[in-house]
Amino acid sequence: MRGKRLLMIPGPIEFTDEVLSEMAVPTLSHVDPEFIELFGQALERMRGVWLAPHGQPFAIAGSGTLAMELAAANITEPGDNVLIVHTGYFSDRMADIFRLHGANVDVVPSAVGDLPQVEAVRAQLKAKRYKTISITHVDTSTGARADIKAFAAAAAETNTLVVVDGVCAVAGEELRMEDWGVDIAFTASQKAVGVPPGLALLVASQRALAVHRARRSTVRAYYCDWKNWLPVMEAYEARRAAYFGTPAVNLVRALNVSLGQILAEGMEARFARHARNARALRAGLSAIGLTFLPVREEIYANTLTAPYYPDGIDATVLAKIAEEGAMLAGGLYPSIKTKYFRIGHMGMSDKSEILATLGAIERGLARAGYSFPIGAAVAAAQSEYKKA
Ligand code: PMP
Repeated sequence: MRGKRLLMIPGPIEFTDEVLSEMAVPTLSHVDPEFIELFGQALERMRGVWLAPHGQPFAIAGSGTLAMELAAANITEPGDNVLIVHTGYFSDRMADIFRLHGANVDVVPSAVGDLPQVEAVRAQLKAKRYKTISITHVDTSTGARADIKAFAAAAAETNTLVVVDGVCAVAGEELRMEDWGVDIAFTASQKAVGVPPGLALLVASQRALAVHRARRSTVRAYYCDWKNWLPVMEAYEARRAAYFGTPAVNLVRALNVSLGQILAEGMEARFARHARNARALRAGLSAIGLTFLPVREEIYANTLTAPYYPDGIDATVLAKIAEEGAMLAGGLYPSIKTKYFRIGHMGMSDKSEILATLGAIERGLARAGYSFPIGAAVAAAQSEYKKA
């Protein structure tokens, strides 16, 4: 730990040594039998992590925004109606991408730090025919988590395709893609999946693939078109090589290792650990007087916490907290970005990282002149862990 600064932002995160070592091995040809085997394995493992036994995985070089565009571009044709569940910065981005691909976008609004009620979304789905509904599982701008199960159940009543932006959620928040009837769920490697930035990871349901196959118009994004990537993903899973664009060989190796670690922990244990860490972190921050941006406790995310700065403290405290050992992120939601900060706690984070982060926050706040009983945050988190 000496001199080490924990990276506790909402991605990239702390990666395991085993994952990082994969980045440093000599790069194989993308048609090397060893690479074919581990790419095939990684795709199979994605189904396990997404809990989508019949889903079609795609792992493509790019960031989470590419995953957003892969989702929107492939199932949207000009004139399609798309409903966006407003959550914040990232649902706005999703709306822009759908519009770019020709959709007529309607938005069910919500106040900052809140989410639309499922009832309001259900009513809108019944008032007008929508091909697709898009929901951001955890909006990284607010730390609010959507009840995907409930939104997807409402969408099932009108046969609407369900797209989930799981960039700040997959492999951390509970997501049962197939049981819940989600058609597309995607993330990016640098988040809870636990791999350095550079992979867009998406799983599509058979229904979403059929919608893509039945298109009357072409996909207006060459690099995004599933038509180009599906044969590649199918080939690697069948342990054959195929080419469309050169895969990010070392990232795919790292992905395979990380997904193996995730499945070895088990999805239920993993969801529970993220929830426990989030509770302990919040208990600690509450104990020293901090409050949170999401407006209701049941929507607090397990992957990310967004506290307001306490009175008299501003964003300059983040540099002090970083000097004390934990790198955190500033606010992102444009209208309130100077009022709050964000702590990412996903991936392999455990007690020691959460407690070290709280310690760094305490020392940073104390140096910034905030008055509170030093040690109270760590103590409250410790008692929370004792309960679990
Ligand atoms: N959606 C969400 C919910 C995100 O948190 C992010 C990244 N913070 C993105 C999409 C975009 O991902 P990227 O920055 O990797 O393009």
